[in-house]
Amino acid sequence: MTETADILIIGGGVMGASIAYHLAKRGGGRVVVLERQALCNGTTGRSGAIVRQHYSNDFTVRMAKDSLAVFQHFADLVGGDCGFITTGMLVLANEQGVESLRANVHMQQEQGVNTKLIGASEVSEVAPGYNGEGVALACYEPDTGVADPMATTYGFAQRAREYGAIIREGIAVTHILQQKDHVTGVRTVEGDIRAPIVVLAANVWSRRLAEALAIALPLTPTRHPMVALRRPNDFGGRQGFHAVGLDIRHQIYLRPDLGGVTLVGSTEDVLTASDPDHYAQGLSEEENTCCSLWESTP
Ligand SMILES: Cc1cc2nc3c(=O)[nH]c(=O)nc-3n(C[C@H](O)[C@H](O)[C@H](O)COP(=O)(O)OP(=O)(O)OC[C@H]3O[C@@H](n4cnc5c(N)ncnc54)[C@H](O)[C@@H]3O)c2cc1C
Repeated sequence: MTETADILIIGGGVMGASIAYHLAKRGGGRVVVLERQALCNGTTGRSGAIVRQHYSNDFTVRMAKDSLAVFQHFADLVGGDCGFITTGMLVLANEQGVESLRANVHMQQEQGVNTKLIGASEVSEVAPGYNGEGVALACYEPDTGVADPMATTYGFAQRAREYGAIIREGIAVTHILQQKDHVTGVRTVEGDIRAPIVVLAANVWSRRLAEALAIALPLTPTRHPMVALRRPNDFGGRQGFHAVGLDIRHQIYLRPDLGGVTLVGSTEDVLTASDPDHYAQGLSEEENTCCSLWESTP
């Protein structure tokens, strides 16, 4: 007998788990999540998980503002611990970045975000460990924090299950089934599942599944390099969390992690497409050299 669901969700990342939780909680019927590997095996498990409101379009800012409240009150709203720690965030710009920083901060303030422009001399006051050398203008967002992406996803998944959702790992969807212009379910490696509603939450892998339905999703997967550096004791210490830093001048960001580690991500070269199933997971020679230089800089 063919299995059925009221709502099928493809993908067990933070999005799939969150959607399952919200639908199951609202009485969405038989909600089933299909994850081809295990929960958090996609980008969620590799995420820097910085929860900020500093974005450049108002729609994203509003979404980030609403989401921040969920992270801040996860235990009460969802249940469990998403590992959220408030750190504050500093955005550093040089002369070329001043105009857009001003415009972004103004737009964010209009959306009700608690953020402010500051001068170079105030940088170390609001975020000890940083200095304002070479900074033309900065902004500080005190409510930014960092979360634990796996704990967040497992938190949503656990609560979704408690509301009756079924989460099946190790089940890859090969096709979304349709009759005329209606979705009727999915074909998986273990057979078909019928459902009148299918939510495609497979992130960059969604493109292939959508293409078969003649839907061209405007998604370009790109490789995102990140390194973990052991920070000096006077930069947040072994246990303390320094502020998140977004340095527009050098196209990097810094995210404090447990055990005296700072994750440094690059925002450079975000437009070169790469295959999400076959990309270089190690550092290139050039990236390795950059890291060595960075580490040896006093
Ligand atoms: C290095 C890095 C740093 C990041 N830093 C931040 C940050 O600081 N702040 C921030 O907000 N965001 C950050 N992000 C982005 C954030 O992690 C992602 O936006 C988020 O994790 C996306 O969640 P998702 O559920 O949409 O996708 P994913 O977690 O990728 O989940 C998609 C799931 O679909 C599954 N799947 C794929 N194909 C199929 C199929 N055919 N059948 C069944 N299952 C399938 C995959 O296995 C995967 O588990 C970062 C990402 C990376 C990689």
